[in-house]
Amino acid sequence: MRITIIGSGYVGTTIAACFAELGHEVTAIDIDEAVVETLNDGRAPITEPGLDELLEKHIGNHLTATTSYDAVPESDVTFLAIGTPSNENGSIELTGLEAAAEATGDALADKSDRHLVIIKSTVTPPSIGAVLEPVVSKGANGNDAIEVGMNPEFLREGSAVSDFLNPDKLVFGTRSAWATDRLHDVFEPLIGTESSVVETDPETAAMIKYANNAFFASKISLVNDLGNICKEFGLDAYEVMDAIGLDDRISDRFLRSGVGWGGSCFPKDVNAIIAAARKEGYDPAVLEAAVAVNDRQPRRMLELLTSHVALEDARIAVLGLSFKPDTDDIRNSRAIPVVQSLLDQGVELAAYDPVAADEMAALFPTIEYADSAGDALFESDGALILTDWDEFSDLESEFDAMATPVVIDGRRCINRRDGIIYEGLTW
Ligand code: NAD
Repeated sequence: MRITIIGSGYVGTTIAACFAELGHEVTAIDIDEAVVETLNDGRAPITEPGLDELLEKHIGNHLTATTSYDAVPESDVTFLAIGTPSNENGSIELTGLEAAAEATGDALADKSDRHLVIIKSTVTPPSIGAVLEPVVSKGANGNDAIEVGMNPEFLREGSAVSDFLNPDKLVFGTRSAWATDRLHDVFEPLIGTESSVVETDPETAAMIKYANNAFFASKISLVNDLGNICKEFGLDAYEVMDAIGLDDRISDRFLRSGVGWGGSCFPKDVNAIIAAARKEGYDPAVLEAAVAVNDRQPRRMLELLTSHVALEDARIAVLGLSFKPDTDDIRNSRAIPVVQSLLDQGVELAAYDPVAADEMAALFPTIEYADSAGDALFESDGALILTDWDEFSDLESEFDAMATPVVIDGRRCINRRDGIIYEGLTW
């Protein structure tokens, strides 16, 4: 099929490369010329395992990148993969997506064949009928050959390509059998025994995405809450969670307690569904508690640090800046409140991350960014481990070069325990 994808960020680039891999003819459209240039060089504008290889393979033949919407009417289906960031009150900011939706409609104003516009971005259920469908229609001068649907994305950064190509489920939210059939055509190579297809309306599809992320975020916050209690009792939360994970009603996934969830999705999506529920007059108490526990975890790490190190004139190493390993994404990384708090207290910081230092430097330009974990640890008075990058598990003798070897591990990824003062956040 001929597919246009509007927005070439984490989601747009991944799905563009993967659709080309599945045999479709794909045009990736982004307003950012630098992004388009990078894509046309066969490179991803973001760090994501396997993505560069797919782009290199398909760019120039099954995949083209451009800033122009001209390819939209020539395609069969258009996916909108524009960011929907948080406003101050937690609600989602739709301006960027609205602009892209209107421009897509505009490009389709004269198309007589039916065309499907699929929202890939995460949006609240009411925003589809109240905002996005009218905006597409307005751009298209009311052309009723255009139908809007919702196909939420469940890929995770760090394993986006493999997640997209091996989905647990595909959710098709449409208003007609024709649109559902088109989505079957698009995803046909992925629809097998391993993945379930859920056919529903666009609003339910949008809610499934929020319910999914709200469930995960709340599960982790519950595990972190229980982990904090374990720590207070002098117990190892991981031993407790290994046991409860044996219950198949709970499962052993997402039971690793630590410094909490971040990234571009969980915080934004949980806050957005809280804000949308409040707008309807409902107070979502469990979700609010999940956010409160998450906000508390970085503070608990700092409390553990200050129980061993006087921060005045101290040099502290911060290892791990991305919100999780295998990505350079620092959006809502737990490292941000930690770095901010230490800076507010006048602490000298040496930060290290294998890929996310440049992103963090844009936010905190004054701190030292070391070339290796060893360099960050050298002569430091304490270390905070905020991302479980694989290479941190190999750190051994590097801790001996610290001025005082105090290690506060927020991810349970440090193997060395002897000869250092080691504190796990929940163990
Ligand atoms: P992103 O910010 O990385 O990318 C958005 C891209 O859209 C940018 O490259 C930007 O230049 C481009 N853009 C903005 N306005 C445009 C316009 N008018 N025309 C063309 N391009 C335009 O966003 P993302 O992380 O890929 O997220 C996209 C959506 O997918 C969000 O709603 C997000 O919640 C959802 N989502 C994200 C993930 C994830 O892991 N990142 C997973 C599932 C769902």
